[in-house]
Amino acid sequence: MRHQVPLRQTPAYALRCYPLGEADLIIVFYTYNFGCVRSVARGARRVRSRFGSAFQPFTQSELVFFEKEGQDLTRVASCEVARSFYESLLTPESAALAAYFAELMTEFTVERDPNPALFRLISAVFEAVEGGIPLPVAARYFEIWMLQLSGFLPLLTSCANCGTQLEAARWAVGHPPEFVCRECHRQFAGSRLLSPAGTALLKEILKKKPQEVAEGAGHDAQAVHRLATVNRLLIRGHIGKELRTVRYLDRLRRGTRKLRFHAASPTSDHPPSGRSIAH
Ligand SMILES: [Zn+2]
Repeated sequence: MRHQVPLRQTPAYALRCYPLGEADLIIVFYTYNFGCVRSVARGARRVRSRFGSAFQPFTQSELVFFEKEGQDLTRVASCEVARSFYESLLTPESAALAAYFAELMTEFTVERDPNPALFRLISAVFEAVEGGIPLPVAARYFEIWMLQLSGFLPLLTSCANCGTQLEAARWAVGHPPEFVCRECHRQFAGSRLLSPAGTALLKEILKKKPQEVAEGAGHDAQAVHRLATVNRLLIRGHIGKELRTVRYLDRLRRGTRKLRFHAASPTSDHPPSGRSIAH
């Protein structure tokens, strides 16, 4: 008698795809019930694939998969689209952001370690992007919560070096990712200032929904920029390397600034007042 293979079903987001052989795909999913899952979809690269658009980045689907004995990769049995953010990911900037989020997810998570809050974070941020919040605010929101939900957001209240209470500003250091005080930061080469406004933005992200942050502290472009620099240092400190998609994110930032500061500074990569916030 043939051995019955148990099917597993879960809501899932497709993060990335890789070609396999002539017609197949390996898809990296972030699933609600199982965390990160890598799965092979047979025939997914054929023109008339039965999977349709289910593997587009950050398409939410109802995934059914099964294990193949002796293999690390699971196999997709079916994948029905539940919700697509495709329309809001059509610009190069939003597509770059999605690629960046996918890389963050794969670097910060391990296979089969479910974290439903992370799944809900994806939904919340993409709903907000669909609702039109500025992409840099969406990026900061995702980064901070990624760090927080993975347990890698440094303590905000006291200096990691001397223990003194941190006031309005703090400095981020990368190895290990920590916040230190004004006095201590000189001991750490490459530390980055998180200004009072950047700190306020970070705290607001931890308390509010993406849309509310966009309407509040997210209005401050300098604070968003400062937090971007700090997050990059913390993320690099945690995973030990620069993310490959960060260059896309840089393009995203430059593109946003060009739009925003075009009249005042048509050729500059920096906002006119950038000097005052530079470390
Ligand atoms: Zn200190």
